Amino acid sequence: MPKERRFIVVVGSLMSGLGKGIAAASIGRILQGYGLNVVPIKFDGYLNVDCGTMNPFRHGEVFVLDDGTECDMDFGTYERFLNCDLKNKNSITGGKLFRYVIDKERRGGYLGYDVQIVPHLTKEIIKWVKKVGEDDDADIVLIEVGGTVGDLENGYFLEAMRQLGLQERVAYVQVTYVPTMNVVGEQKTKPTQHATRLLASLGIQPHFIICRENEKLKAEARKKISMFCNVPEEAIIDDPDVQTIYELPEIFEKQGLGKLLLSRLKMKSRKQDMKEWGKLVDNIRTPKEEITIGITGKYTALKDSYVSIKEALVHAGARNDCKVNIKWIETTEIEEKKAKVDDVLKGCDGIIVPGGFGERGAEGKVECIRHARYKGIPFLGLCFGMQLAVVEYARNVCGLKDANSTEIDENAKQPVIDLLPEQKMITDKGATMRLGGQDVEVKKGTLAYEIYGKESVRERFRHRYEVNPEYIEQLEAGGLMFSGKAPKSNIMQILELPNHKFFVGVQFHPELSSRLERAHPLFIKFVETSLKK
Ligand code: GLN
Repeated sequence: MPKERRFIVVVGSLMSGLGKGIAAASIGRILQGYGLNVVPIKFDGYLNVDCGTMNPFRHGEVFVLDDGTECDMDFGTYERFLNCDLKNKNSITGGKLFRYVIDKERRGGYLGYDVQIVPHLTKEIIKWVKKVGEDDDADIVLIEVGGTVGDLENGYFLEAMRQLGLQERVAYVQVTYVPTMNVVGEQKTKPTQHATRLLASLGIQPHFIICRENEKLKAEARKKISMFCNVPEEAIIDDPDVQTIYELPEIFEKQGLGKLLLSRLKMKSRKQDMKEWGKLVDNIRTPKEEITIGITGKYTALKDSYVSIKEALVHAGARNDCKVNIKWIETTEIEEKKAKVDDVLKGCDGIIVPGGFGERGAEGKVECIRHARYKGIPFLGLCFGMQLAVVEYARNVCGLKDANSTEIDENAKQPVIDLLPEQKMITDKGATMRLGGQDVEVKKGTLAYEIYGKESVRERFRHRYEVNPEYIEQLEAGGLMFSGKAPKSNIMQILELPNHKFFVGVQFHPELSSRLERAHPLFIKFVETSLKK
């Protein structure tokens, strides 16, 4: 008998930034707790095929999946909550969809018909969603429609989801906002009423309404929403401000959301187990200790650009029962001599120099790395941060005074960091980097080996430059240890300093594969060492 598969569709009303992705991921985690295989899919209306060319300033971090897909940072949320590895197929953007349909049309795939949004495009969406469910043997396919109801961009996705409801058992979940008017302290439900009417005009009646709010819904507000939006009171769920996003599954579950969803979907409930999760959340809420980690970066104005690093520190903190405060460091100020590196890094128990592109602020980062090396402060360099650690070491220890990365100075006299050979010919911007999961060979007897406990690990990459093989010998002779590299090649991927308690640079992005229930070992050790300082 074929598996009975169910679908949950999460849509957002009124405005962006309500945490729809986090709410959807929390729903997924609850149902996972019931022993169900939950497979998420996200729709994004924009016409980019993927997020590779998007500026993190505008759009937040570009998240990289194991298969090399560059996607929206919401995919990070799903992986962190559901502890799963997503693939390209879990992300459907407008660009990807239109490209598929147009290519198919060119091949004569629509048999002479005029190709229309309805039914052709919507049919492709439904087919895609069902196929992902089938291939991954999902119990539940959890679909998040990006954007807000009423946008032109996601209209065809909503129409497809309406049609899906005719074919399959679907639970529709609407995330909305209930503001409180300051003067009278009254919760206002009218925006939600209008939003639900708008959704209904598209043929979708929500079964659940999740209310973002500053304070819990009062009985009267709940009654009104129930009455005017046609949703039973118990299916109106509070989504209050939280101390940590990882609390949300518990908060929803206390309101009975899991059981209600199962009942709507006519699914039997199995075991419910969130014990380990709950313990970690407790550690985040009431930590025993506290440390401060300095993070340098040029996107410090937009903290969303470093979401995965922030979360990886939360995960590693939970494992060490310690709160990790973050001090953001604008390195351009060090560069322009408006601030002294000593002052800027004061109070930091550890320093992270994260990934980045281009020259702005790079010299300031090199200064911070030198400081961390000198003062014995735990240092973790991620991708660009690792490359700059090589530049710093080359200049200040190996006597290569003109060492630089050719990304920063094209004509560097001593190009210790240079383009990967396969990157030198490429001009097309999309998908030109070394991207996605790759194996890393870890050298025995090193700190890296102590941390990983194995000789082969898989990590995620997103870079164009590498340690120039011509300088490896000189750098090693100067005391820099390369403790990880690409198998059967001389692409260096981990560096460390044996006489420092934690000075580690990695060419990859360990932050991308850290999850609450599987904190990344590098981050765990980094936090642990910073704690001991
Ligand atoms: N800009 C560097 C490169 O392309 C580092 C990239 C990164 O930090 N993700 O290699």
